Amino acid sequence: MKSKQTCEKSQGLSRRTFLKGGTALGGLALASGVLAACSPSTVSDDAEPIASVGLPQTWDAETDVVVVGFGGAGAAAAWEALDAGCQVTILEKLDKAGGSTNICGGLIYMGGGTPTQKACGFDETPDNYYNYLVAATGPGVSEDHCRVLADESLDLYSWLVDTLGVEFTPGYNPPWPEEANYDAGLSCTGDEFSLDYVGICEAVPHSHWVFGVVEDLDGTLTGAKNGSGFFQPLQKAVEAFEPEVLYKTPAQRLIVHPETGRVVGVVAKKDGKDYNIKAKKGVVLCSGGFAYNDAMIEQYVPYAMGSFIIGTEGDTGDGIRMGQGIGAATRHMHFAYGELSNGAWRARHSVVGGPLCFSALVNKRGVRFISEDHYAGSYYAQISRNPYYYRDYAECYMVFDKQTYDQMNEISEIKPDIIIAQADSIEELAQALDTPKGTLENTIAYYNEYAAQGEDPLWMKRPEFTRPIEQAPFYAISATTLNGLFTYGGLKINTAAQVLYAMDDQPIPGLYSAGRNASDILGTGYCGSGASVASCYTFGRIAGRGVAAETAWE
Ligand SMILES: Cc1cc2nc3c(=O)[nH]c(=O)nc-3n(C[C@H](O)[C@H](O)[C@H](O)COP(=O)(O)OP(=O)(O)OC[C@H]3O[C@@H](n4cnc5c(N)ncnc54)[C@H](O)[C@@H]3O)c2cc1C
Repeated sequence: MKSKQTCEKSQGLSRRTFLKGGTALGGLALASGVLAACSPSTVSDDAEPIASVGLPQTWDAETDVVVVGFGGAGAAAAWEALDAGCQVTILEKLDKAGGSTNICGGLIYMGGGTPTQKACGFDETPDNYYNYLVAATGPGVSEDHCRVLADESLDLYSWLVDTLGVEFTPGYNPPWPEEANYDAGLSCTGDEFSLDYVGICEAVPHSHWVFGVVEDLDGTLTGAKNGSGFFQPLQKAVEAFEPEVLYKTPAQRLIVHPETGRVVGVVAKKDGKDYNIKAKKGVVLCSGGFAYNDAMIEQYVPYAMGSFIIGTEGDTGDGIRMGQGIGAATRHMHFAYGELSNGAWRARHSVVGGPLCFSALVNKRGVRFISEDHYAGSYYAQISRNPYYYRDYAECYMVFDKQTYDQMNEISEIKPDIIIAQADSIEELAQALDTPKGTLENTIAYYNEYAAQGEDPLWMKRPEFTRPIEQAPFYAISATTLNGLFTYGGLKINTAAQVLYAMDDQPIPGLYSAGRNASDILGTGYCGSGASVASCYTFGRIAGRGVAAETAWE
């Protein structure tokens, strides 16, 4: 691990590229733009597990609960432990609270019949919400964690609104092509309406969307809707309990009792020196994901190398590596959130819809492999699962005709350099793209035959996005670029948010985790905008209640 001024990165010294303008990210509802804060920090390019240490000769401080990370999950865990009467110390690596949660797009996924859903005319049972979560975040998702998230959702809503004072304005932001309502407190990503889920669950929107309480977060994010709307009320509620909060004090190692194997404290770096904190009840790791750790990205998510990174520079996977260092299991480390480029033509903020949904997305073999009307996060998940992905290095093309071209141009001007092939016939386009003889031609002929009736028997695109690709000239743009990355994988936890050993799946005594430090409902897919924060708050709260109920050791 090494310290750097992260501002260097914006001067081209890193593979990371800061995203400006926000229009490329359709799925995360970025109102304007996102930049990681330029402040001194600790960055990491080490993927190795961090070994624990035994009992120190002297303790520098003592508390009931140590929470590592004052972002969304950490704040939720701290609130519950404090509310249960515990003494809590929060360690935060950066000089302020909030992490990615404070600067995110302000969406939180809730369902099962929230008052906002009902006020917008959508009723839902927790079972319906659960069925959607399992179907849309799989395959391989933990159904048990989905069950808990669905069952806890109404309580989460009530905690946010009644206890913390978070406001969701009335109104609904419908899917394209209906008119947008950006002020609405309820939105849908569009995937809820995908025909993939017919017969599994009713189509109900879940993305609850808040206005930020500040519009300009130190220059990191501007826009009316952002995560400060649901983070800052929580931060204030935590601070009202007057816990000890140590900023610029990164946790560095876990302290494990040599006889019991229980996690009994943390070594932090405070004012440049090791600082041993005894945690009588336990430690909750909530240090976020690892998007800002080059070595971990290379090791676990190599297909995302070169993506735009979203998040804060605290996301270096410290908590994951500390857990690995004492034998914790990890799960879903190879999956991450990302999007295709050209988002503005395919999605309207978090909501699917736009002219590019009328295109045919094909791989290098000229073959369609998903429905083009999917939510941005699902696109990415399906592209990374496509069997040709590794062989063809994720190269895909969006093929469309003049009608779509003209509609795209109305939304924003198409720069000539993004068109990688243009031809008067699909045959000529196929030659220009060098797809195997006949494949693209067959793909489009088959697609057009059914699209004329608004049908897509192969991938079940919705009728409103299905029409023949038949008006020359024909175009192809590359859909290879992957934008925007935050990681799904983390320490394996049970539904009580206890970290599990890799060797036997049993809880590690004294150790809890939540948020992107852990693996919960974010499996191989992403069900919709707001799912990450929902899981951070839900399992953060569960971790806080669990650690508070532990028997203290002396
Ligand atoms: C621009 C953007 C838009 C997004 N939009 C949405 C959205 O609308 N809805 C949604 O659900 N998700 C969204 N996401 C994803 C979501 O914001 C994150 O996945 C989520 O907030 C992570 O929460 P967390 O508590 O796990 O981590 P964070 O909120 O990032 O908190 C982790 C904290 O731990 C600290 N930390 C790290 N290492 C240490 C250490 N060693 N010691 C002490 N502290 C440490 C970090 O500095 C940080 O403060 C978005 C992400 C971004 C960046």
